[in-house]
Amino acid sequence: MFNYHLNNKNPLYAIIYAMKEITFGSVVIGFTEKEDGNQRILENRKISFNVLIPNQKHTNLVISAKNDLLQEADGLYTSEKGLVLGVLTADCIPIVLFNQDELSVIHAGWRGLFRGIVEKAFSFFYKKPTFCFIGPSIRVCCYEVGKDFLEQFEVESKYYIQRDGRYFLSLQDIAKEKLRSLGLDNIQDVNQCTACSGKYFSFRKGDFDDRILSYAYIKE
Ligand SMILES: [Zn+2]
Repeated sequence: MFNYHLNNKNPLYAIIYAMKEITFGSVVIGFTEKEDGNQRILENRKISFNVLIPNQKHTNLVISAKNDLLQEADGLYTSEKGLVLGVLTADCIPIVLFNQDELSVIHAGWRGLFRGIVEKAFSFFYKKPTFCFIGPSIRVCCYEVGKDFLEQFEVESKYYIQRDGRYFLSLQDIAKEKLRSLGLDNIQDVNQCTACSGKYFSFRKGDFDDRILSYAYIKE
């Protein structure tokens, strides 16, 4: 169940406590939890509609959802009403960019983020996306990275913390900074860590095959 607080200052804000779905004007966003089962398995998807999921490979590729989904991609875009787009994750960030007529669903790990998948998704929009949703993902409390990693990618110090000589990265902060630099300030972050909340699958915690599903669609 949802038990986090959403920013209700947004005029598009509306929430329905059904099927773990949130509605922002014409756009519906949902995500599963561990108790919903591994969403890689079709029978576990207890939703009444077909979800288009790209062939995720940690790339920066975004494709129109009408294209062949067997090709590698980590983001889908559509302006078609009723078309449900999704990504499967276990620690990586599910991101939904949208305005009231278009949306993009992105699987963003560090590779995708560093390689510019957010910017790629942005470029698909005819009208600028006005809203962003950041789903359950591993956060700075748990996402340990090596010093060599930070050095290799020249990660700015504002994106990580140091604790007992160890380094923890905030992918969400990197994503948010990218979004703000693209002019998108309206960011809804569920603020849930997949690794320590116990409510989601976490690759880092040993859930190598299990995935949660995040999806979004524009209402017909
Ligand atoms: Zn955590």
